[in-house]
Amino acid sequence: MSEFPPCPACAEEITYPDMHNYVCATCGHEWPMQEDTEAEDKPKFRDAHGTPLEDGDTVTLIKDLKVKGSSMVVKMGTRITNIKLVEGDHDVDCRVDGQKLMLKSCFMKKA
Ligand SMILES: [Zn+2]
Repeated sequence: MSEFPPCPACAEEITYPDMHNYVCATCGHEWPMQEDTEAEDKPKFRDAHGTPLEDGDTVTLIKDLKVKGSSMVVKMGTRITNIKLVEGDHDVDCRVDGQKLMLKSCFMKKA
């Protein structure tokens, strides 16, 4: 038994990794290790309890949040619908009372 996936071209199990590809020793077919690279590139967005978040989710704030550059405070318990996840320190792009805000996923929980 090989620890690597069988060849998608000839289904033989004698395969080996070569850089970012797998190579079949039987027919020479090469194919990318897609699953591994995708898993690494994919950002992991989680709420305060570790629940994975996705675009379009509805969340509830678990603490009052001051909005940077304004006097606005988003109150604990505020329900935010249709969030959008982005990479960065403030990873949740959303709208509260019609205002576009960037918040942190660690201050919210999935509703
Ligand atoms: Zn093969």
